[in-house]
Amino acid sequence: MSDFPPEIDVDVAVIGAGSAGLVAFHQARKHTERVVLIEGGPYGTTCARVGCMPSKLLISAAEAAHSAQHAGRFGVHAETVRIDGKAVMERVRRERDRFVGFVLDSVDKIPSEQKIQGMARFDGPNRLIVENGPRINAERIVIATGSRTNVVRFLQGAGRRLVTNDDVFDWTDLPESVAVFGPGVIGLEIGQALSRLGVRVRMFGVGGFVGPIQDPEILKIARETFNLEFPLDADAETTAVKETEDGVEVSFCDNDGNQVTETFEYLLAATGRRPNVDGLALQNSGLALDDRGVPEFDRYTLRCGDSSIFIAGDVNNELPLLHEAADEGRIAGANAGRYPEVETGTRRAPISVVFTDPQIAAVGLTIQQTDERCRGCFAVGSVNFENQGRSRVIGKNRGLLRVYGEHGTGRFMGAEMFGPAAEHIAHLLAWAAQQRMDVNEMLEMPFYHPVIEEGLRTALRDLHDQLKLGPESPDECMDCGPGT
Ligand SMILES: Cc1cc2nc3c(=O)[nH]c(=O)nc-3n(C[C@H](O)[C@H](O)[C@H](O)COP(=O)(O)OP(=O)(O)OC[C@H]3O[C@@H](n4cnc5c(N)ncnc54)[C@H](O)[C@@H]3O)c2cc1C
Repeated sequence: MSDFPPEIDVDVAVIGAGSAGLVAFHQARKHTERVVLIEGGPYGTTCARVGCMPSKLLISAAEAAHSAQHAGRFGVHAETVRIDGKAVMERVRRERDRFVGFVLDSVDKIPSEQKIQGMARFDGPNRLIVENGPRINAERIVIATGSRTNVVRFLQGAGRRLVTNDDVFDWTDLPESVAVFGPGVIGLEIGQALSRLGVRVRMFGVGGFVGPIQDPEILKIARETFNLEFPLDADAETTAVKETEDGVEVSFCDNDGNQVTETFEYLLAATGRRPNVDGLALQNSGLALDDRGVPEFDRYTLRCGDSSIFIAGDVNNELPLLHEAADEGRIAGANAGRYPEVETGTRRAPISVVFTDPQIAAVGLTIQQTDERCRGCFAVGSVNFENQGRSRVIGKNRGLLRVYGEHGTGRFMGAEMFGPAAEHIAHLLAWAAQQRMDVNEMLEMPFYHPVIEEGLRTALRDLHDQLKLGPESPDECMDCGPGT
């Protein structure tokens, strides 16, 4: 039951108390106190409850198991690793709850008259109805309702055996086996982690995609490498998914063209995310919608058309990443607060990381976007990590980095990587992209020895040579030579 009167008037209503909504709420409050934050689900944010943080906790357990099992190459033998599934999941839940607790503490600090619980929907361009709550006349509105797993109909056959990331981190033990549908970011991260924790995993994709990878060379090495650990068919022919007494049966065509049926304890649907727009009755908002039903908006102001409605985070279906949701919440909330004055906000250089092993990273423009932007006048520099000094030292010498630069200007355009420490290399590259550095400027930066970043230098030197920006670079083998 709501403590609010049946109808209230506010300057700003923020729908959704996730990462984008919370930031938007606090930004709007810098301009007016007449702000309300509406949340229809549990507080705590997707990131902390069922997203970024618990997935990384599971991955950390998997990494510990994998390192121990593969220590033999260093002459250290710990092959008989025992994985206590209950303890693994207990730590995941405990640490997850801790992260969620921080969010709940900050929500607690919001005055109760500014928090409304219930699902909101539009009843007019500036009017909202909250389920079991008040009607709200809001001069300005921020839509920050996030996204959810898009479970394709075909997978519904798994019945009670169908799980999504919303379920996995509440498990009290590890299952015996999981069929993962969707080798995107979420499927790859959770699937590989489960596999390394001793769960039998098979991964099914469509269209050949693996994570966010767009560069065909990177895609090839990623597919081959993951397949050394667990079967991943990025373009699978699955014919049936059926719940049985024992689990879920998946029928598919294997690599030799044979029809196979394999039973799994669970089927994890990681088949993309869909923006939470369907419950918002956007037809009453007066906004122009795109073909997915998402309001059209300006990515620099987050304003929808010329309305006083703004849209931030996963719901706008542009960049479903935590730091982007926070940035967008900041821009949308500030604009809603100061409306009718609307300002553009800073958008950062694109960066994304997938926490598999090897990690996947993408920075700046994709190879296809680089081709388009440079009208074909670009070059690619690369490094294979097999013989990269530091990577070999730590036994993580697998993967490829490809960097793209423009002919003529020598400007760094973007990069894709599948390899060791990609989360760190990606940051160096993103900072360079945002500073609009050219390849020579990047090569003037310091590189310590022996570090994985020397591999980045090799790729940049290769790019430098391909772009003919000056005298040829020294041989690649100097990468691991002393004092180069
Ligand atoms: C498994 C997983 C792993 C991830 N890992 C990473 C990572 O490593 N790095 C990274 O950058 N990103 C990662 N992400 C993505 C990141 O979590 C999201 O981009 C981010 O959480 C989106 O925040 P948001 O505020 O848009 O949405 P949310 O945090 O989902 O908030 C939306 C809120 O709106 C509420 N809501 C919905 N509809 C209504 C309504 N009608 N009325 C009222 N309230 C409503 C929901 O209940 C929810 O609380 C991951 C996501 C997942 C699922």
